[in-house]
Amino acid sequence: MVIRKKTTTKKRTAPKTPKTTKTASKTTRKSVSKTTRKSASKLSAAEQLKEYQRKRDFEKTAEPSGATTRKRASSSAPAADQPRFVIQKHDASHLHYDLRIEIDGVMKSWAVPKGPSADPSVKRLAMQVEDHPIEYNTFEGTIPAGEYGGGTVMLWDHGTYEIENPPDDDTNSSARDEYDHGELKIIFHGKRIKGSYALVRTKGMGGSAAKPSWLLIKHRDAQARPENDSSLTTKYMKSVTTDRTMDQISEGPRVWHSPR
Ligand code: MN
Repeated sequence: MVIRKKTTTKKRTAPKTPKTTKTASKTTRKSVSKTTRKSASKLSAAEQLKEYQRKRDFEKTAEPSGATTRKRASSSAPAADQPRFVIQKHDASHLHYDLRIEIDGVMKSWAVPKGPSADPSVKRLAMQVEDHPIEYNTFEGTIPAGEYGGGTVMLWDHGTYEIENPPDDDTNSSARDEYDHGELKIIFHGKRIKGSYALVRTKGMGGSAAKPSWLLIKHRDAQARPENDSSLTTKYMKSVTTDRTMDQISEGPRVWHSPR
């Protein structure tokens, strides 16, 4: 499949940098909300990845361009039909953890400043960011300084997920519905993050209409642990795939290629 390059911005009027622009101008707001509503369910992966591609110069960064639609490698997935998630530790201008959840052929993404917790009494802020390509799930390395997201990226956890009590047999459409409604109830099957979590969209907390803030909260289950006794982010300091520290990744080659 050929993906159209970012030749025009007339359809996407969402602010380029969510930090500086809170809302679109009056004249464009109508089309933004229409696009936003539509993007939740009907846009192709190529359409959803336009913002990701617009923000990056692939001549300079080794991040995947998302320009090729790679078939899911069934041999690499524990269960071929289960959607995937990834968490990347990202030492950019501020250290954070990027949570990405596969819905509708892209990785819906949130920057979680403090990372996930296994403690049900802890609510972790998760700021929505642009959708990422599925190929990003194996990206570990460095993004050059001065480029968007410049810094070190570690694969911190990955695996598959399920929707808890799915209203629909199809996990993807259940996930999409819950995403649209702003409340995902997810069971993570990761190496480090396990069990049931809620990801809930909130009003305020620094978010905007285009990039709302969410909260990531552990549900009480057998995998729940008090943060004081067992903090996931301090327990696991190395890459889930290469066993490297952040320093080792930053000193290594720009990109680590998955052996898959
Ligand atoms: Mn990031």
